[in-house]
Amino acid sequence: MNKTLTCIGCPMGCLIEVELDEAGNFLSSKGWSCNIGKRYAQEEVTAPVRTVTALVNVTDRTEPLSVKTAAPVPKSSIFDCLSDLRKLKVQAPVHIGDVVTDNVAGTGIAVVATKNIL
Ligand code: SF4
Repeated sequence: MNKTLTCIGCPMGCLIEVELDEAGNFLSSKGWSCNIGKRYAQEEVTAPVRTVTALVNVTDRTEPLSVKTAAPVPKSSIFDCLSDLRKLKVQAPVHIGDVVTDNVAGTGIAVVATKNIL
């Protein structure tokens, strides 16, 4: 069984063909142009992950704070992460790189600020 993926590692968007066995296990891939794509192809069919970006509320401010996960989270946890972040309220001042939560949705992954709110 074959599956075609578009690599999301960079704007080149290489088309990657992944070969799976009948049980859906990864066998091989081709079409990637670098190791990022090679790794993405295998991860995407075995344990897909994504970096989550969101806006969170800041106490006493109307302007929200943009944040992202410090590392990719399992794709199956994305909605739980967004739900956690929706409930979060941070206190200004916040600087780029500040950790706003260190374990979003029980993933063990931190979420960091991507802008300054002074
Ligand atoms: S395989 Fe490499 S060059 Fe191609 S889209 Fe992915 S990251 Fe970019």
